[in-house]
Amino acid sequence: MIKISLPDGSVREVEKGTTSMDVALSISEGLARNVLSAKVNGEIWDANRPIEADADLQLLTWKDTDGKSTFWHSSAHLMAEALEALYPGIKFWVGPPVENGFYYDVDTGEHAISSNDFKKIEDKMIELARGKSPFERMPISKADAISYFKEKDDNYKLDLLEGLEDGNITLYKQGNFTDLCRGPHIPHTGFIKAAKIMNVAGAFFKGDQSKKQLTRVYGITFPKQGELKEYLAMVEEAKKRDHRKLGQELDLFAFSDKVGKGLPLWLPKGAMLRERLENFLKKAQLKAGYLPVITPHIGSKKLYETSGHWEKYGEDSFQPILTPEEGEEFMLKPMNCPHHCEIFKTRPRSYKDLPLRLAEFGTVYRYEQSGELHGLTRVRGFTQDDAHIFCANDQVEDEFKKVIDLVLYVFKSLGYDEFSAQISLRSKEDRSKYIGKDEDWDRAEQAIIKAAGEKELDTVIAYGEAAFYGPKLDFMVKDALGRKWQLGTIQVDYQLPNRFELEYVGADNQKHRPVMIHRAPFGSLERFIAILIENTAGNFPLWLSPEQIAILPISEKYEDYANELFLELQESDIRGYVDHRDEKIGRKIRDAEVNKIPLMLIVGEKEQEERKVSVRRKGEGDLGQMTLEEFTAYANQEINKNIPKFGAK
Ligand SMILES: [Zn+2]
Ligand SMILES: [Zn+2]
Repeated sequence: MIKISLPDGSVREVEKGTTSMDVALSISEGLARNVLSAKVNGEIWDANRPIEADADLQLLTWKDTDGKSTFWHSSAHLMAEALEALYPGIKFWVGPPVENGFYYDVDTGEHAISSNDFKKIEDKMIELARGKSPFERMPISKADAISYFKEKDDNYKLDLLEGLEDGNITLYKQGNFTDLCRGPHIPHTGFIKAAKIMNVAGAFFKGDQSKKQLTRVYGITFPKQGELKEYLAMVEEAKKRDHRKLGQELDLFAFSDKVGKGLPLWLPKGAMLRERLENFLKKAQLKAGYLPVITPHIGSKKLYETSGHWEKYGEDSFQPILTPEEGEEFMLKPMNCPHHCEIFKTRPRSYKDLPLRLAEFGTVYRYEQSGELHGLTRVRGFTQDDAHIFCANDQVEDEFKKVIDLVLYVFKSLGYDEFSAQISLRSKEDRSKYIGKDEDWDRAEQAIIKAAGEKELDTVIAYGEAAFYGPKLDFMVKDALGRKWQLGTIQVDYQLPNRFELEYVGADNQKHRPVMIHRAPFGSLERFIAILIENTAGNFPLWLSPEQIAILPISEKYEDYANELFLELQESDIRGYVDHRDEKIGRKIRDAEVNKIPLMLIVGEKEQEERKVSVRRKGEGDLGQMTLEEFTAYANQEINKNIPKFGAK
């Protein structure tokens, strides 16, 4: 008999050789129907692989990321089987799962696959899936594997085999298809109920441009037909909300090849939006005890030699800037932290100065490969809502709680109601790579767990995910389309205080080294705004709207009155524009709607006579006539509605 420990803490005694599927069946048949694979002692296994010794067991279903990966990777095998049936002689390289679905890199030989063939492939996949073919795991010696693929004349798999160690090689077979694969896979193909081929693209063998170009076939599958429909609807909606498209349509930002790839140009409306976000956070940070600082966009190369950035990233980043002075070299700053460390060092510090919280909207530059650049989410120059907290070891827990409060305030104010957090700690086994004292790590890790617990965050703990220089807490938000985005990080750092030899005098009159906490609720303004655009589809909350009002005179006779209104509203900090064009009022309203202006003020003869405005709100329609005072009061109330005061209960 062996002992199987389940995540709920219960332990089951079962016979040696029992499978995860057997355990699932002993719990309930419903559960067993949904089990895709299982985590056995932290390793993902086929659900029907026999367990031979005591083990920790977690059953994985569609709800688990790892379960989904097993499902999608198995679907890549199913797609390969369909492709082999449809295109005899086709050769396969690798077929991993990706964030949404999977792909397989294939050498189509004399065939070509285009979007016209997608339906045919999907139909074949579903036909094969209905056969409920089990995925069979077959351990094989390297020599046997080589002779198998030699016989098949499959140089791709022979290439893969070269790098594999004898004794650890497995083949997997389902239906008529056998692949070299370490697994794991779902129990049988019948779990796959819906399939869609999404795209084909060229992909060089091993990513090497001098090698043969293969065809990368992307697909996605689901355990229910309905889920595929929902997914495709989401993809359509995501296309409409793409921040690159909306950013252009709403005149928020642009790129110019002449300025340089990946360097966003903020247009007036985008700059207005960004400024609102900055002011919002600055106000809250002031209340939370942060002190604003400003540091230059460049720093001497020596600064980054001290910080370690030069050694780590120097070669792959923007190269040093030379000056007429011999030997003088500067770097575009890739991070604000080194500058802030130098601010800490500008004068002797005592424990009474701690925690010292230095905040800066600091613009940094990192050289991303041009193929990696993507709208505002991957750029080469961006502004972090950065801050560094210098504190004593016993202040870490309190500081974490305070930063969590700030992050949650940001989420709440911007309508992100669904979020989760990941606590990244040291690996349980190998602790040799982490710098800093063990006791400090223990304390900080416990502090983060405790702070997250007290703030009732929905957290997962990831062992081995901590950076070598400290544990961290990352936030993930779910957007309106159900997509997850990583926002906001709080990171403990034992390294930079060492490298910069930071010190403070403690109450014991001795010198101590402070801990540094890096934190950024938005992450970067560029990325945050990209996510905000996609989450709101460009319908920003009133307080953030670059243009809150559009004043629409019915004809030029009412222009003076419109201008007068505009100036008065500007006095009350309500922003927008007057539509002076010689267009019909219907057209003006339509254009304001297209530009996602929240409030429209229509003025004609009656309004001018009575010193009133006719108000229309986007998405709500006509709100009737108001005096200027009434409208100002209404607008201010609506503006303030969504931004609670920071620190208010
Ligand atoms: Zn596989
Ligand atoms: Zn930092």
